[in-house]
Amino acid sequence: MNLILLGPPGAGKGTQAKFIAKKFNLYQLSTGDLLREEIKNKTEIGKKIELIIDQGDFVKDNIVNELLKKVITNSLYRNRIIFDGYPRNITQAENLELMLNSNNQSINFIFSLKVNRETIEKRILGRITCEKCNKTFNKYLNKEEIEKHECGVTYLKKRKDDNQESIITRYEEYIKKTKPVLDFYSSRTYFHEIDGSQKIPVITNKIEDILKV
Ligand code: AMP
Repeated sequence: MNLILLGPPGAGKGTQAKFIAKKFNLYQLSTGDLLREEIKNKTEIGKKIELIIDQGDFVKDNIVNELLKKVITNSLYRNRIIFDGYPRNITQAENLELMLNSNNQSINFIFSLKVNRETIEKRILGRITCEKCNKTFNKYLNKEEIEKHECGVTYLKKRKDDNQESIITRYEEYIKKTKPVLDFYSSRTYFHEIDGSQKIPVITNKIEDILKV
């Protein structure tokens, strides 16, 4: 099965994707992670996108689509992809259908995580990610887990784009460009809206229950 996780930045898409991927042996395709990898590796694309991401703008469709295509056409990930952070606009939603169709695949589940603006801000400003294992924590809410983290605290870093200024742009971009994607999908039988303000395991259980049916 292929599934899409939708929601504003900080909704918990990445966190849920990791749990669901592990449980159902799926592959988490995070376009944000793929783009950050390009920056880390100082590739040609990486140099172009660093500034865009730091400002909170969207990276150009053709760049993201190219990264996506490599995963969709890879037989290792066939019919076991969790799309996390894609599609982010209507053109990308249309492109995804085309790409999957031409590879004889389809979307089987869509989960939209609904979270209010205030919660998002708190989550994003407290978010830290382990550079080694990519696990994320909230520095205000997960103090104990952070101290016990198996990779050690030195690898825990704040994302450069997780600042007050960039959050404003990222949220505006979401409302303007990504929210219409929800309308694009909402009438489909496999579209599910989930309250994303609940505790992490509660959300994971809800998703699992739907996937198991
Ligand atoms: P994320 O890790 O999903 O929060 O994404 C971080 C940043 O990467 C976003 O703010 C965008 O600048 C960029 N990005 C991620 N996915 C996409 C996408 N599908 N289209 C355009 N830009 C993206």
